[in-house]
Amino acid sequence: MKIFAMLALVSAATVAGVAVAEQDVRRVVIQNTAVFDGESKELLRDHDVLVEGRLITAVGRNLEAGDATTIDGRSYTLIPGLTDAHVHLTLIDKPEIAIFKNDWVFNGAVAAKMAEQMLMRGFTTVRDLGGPVAGLKKAIDQGLVLGPRILPSGPLISQTSGHGDFEITDQYLAHAFPDTPSKQELFGWSFLADGVPEVTKAARLVLRTGASQIKVMVGGGVSSPYDPLDASQYSPEELRAIAAEAANWGTYVSVHAFTDAAANRAMDAGAKSIEHGPFLSRGTLQRMAAEGVWLSPQIFLTALTPEQLGIEGTPNGSKMEKVNENSTRVVELARELGVDIAWGTDTFGPADLQQNQSREFAARRQFFSDVEILRQATSGNARLFALAGERHPYRDGALGVIRPGAYADLLLVKGDPTQDVAVLGAPDANIHFIMKDGVIVKNTLLAQP
Ligand SMILES: [Zn+2]
Repeated sequence: MKIFAMLALVSAATVAGVAVAEQDVRRVVIQNTAVFDGESKELLRDHDVLVEGRLITAVGRNLEAGDATTIDGRSYTLIPGLTDAHVHLTLIDKPEIAIFKNDWVFNGAVAAKMAEQMLMRGFTTVRDLGGPVAGLKKAIDQGLVLGPRILPSGPLISQTSGHGDFEITDQYLAHAFPDTPSKQELFGWSFLADGVPEVTKAARLVLRTGASQIKVMVGGGVSSPYDPLDASQYSPEELRAIAAEAANWGTYVSVHAFTDAAANRAMDAGAKSIEHGPFLSRGTLQRMAAEGVWLSPQIFLTALTPEQLGIEGTPNGSKMEKVNENSTRVVELARELGVDIAWGTDTFGPADLQQNQSREFAARRQFFSDVEILRQATSGNARLFALAGERHPYRDGALGVIRPGAYADLLLVKGDPTQDVAVLGAPDANIHFIMKDGVIVKNTLLAQP
């Protein structure tokens, strides 16, 4: 894979606070291409897109581009960089291995590689819903490591024995000895907090890591050892305390919730994003639609078998089977009721599992049109990310759209994803050009006939 680091583009506005003369700003024009702008159903045919510095500055026919570097977009479709609303970039293996067995530098090094691979699948912005990702984000933002923009949640907040309690048995007694914190808390995977004072402090510690939103586990889940799927986690008082801290910081709470009881308690406290939700009823989904609360389902993941995830025969394997039986129904209902639906995959683990991220596109075709899926993965997720308000780390341009003033996050795709979004499932073969933040990170256009 060719990395065009030499094309690093200078910020259009300032470098180290000093105004940059216009001739110093790198300019790239993508010419004669078909543009999916992130929203409209119809492609803009034979259009040019001008990039100056980190931003798109013009979209139109036959643009005057002067000495800009030209990219011939003919016979490709230009789409905004893809986004994923539910990833765990640092979870490079099963939780019990990544958190408790692996060396932390090994985790970091592998996570950096995974982030690069994710960018090369076309994902230029992701919302990370739990794990010690702040350092990786910093290295990516500084240009030291290739990867997507990250809206980090930092450590998950979970009650003891909740969905964020991954403690392995031989370390469990550590809780009796406060001077020897568990690795899951020490390394910033999850904070186990019980009672209003502890959850308040946990929320503040999460915000101190630079979190753009707070992730809270409010009910049972598949990948954790102690919590049955039907369990509700956290009292209304605890949830209100966490949500109040999020609101004080100008942002929101996203919750892992499977059941009506868990989701409604979280919404009562003000949660804005429900992750997974396989057992939600029509009534709860109606409430979500009415109150503008997002549903973030994972459609490809819930079509996998426990064998494919390597958890067959374990308690987590049988939990997964129950979830999978219900996931199709909830997406159909949510669509019918007009709930805002995020595009997120929750694919974590080793590289072969993370590659499944791109298969979510084809998996969604049973419920949505190609354009609807593309919108979800671009401008739709960007609306969800905007709930982070002042804590959103990337506010110099719009995300998920192609228009003047948007970040220059752009992909040239072979074929027309508005007619067949599944072409994005084979990124090596079909995504020939990737630009993030005005920097070309992949360009195999010349290799094509
Ligand atoms: Zn997750």
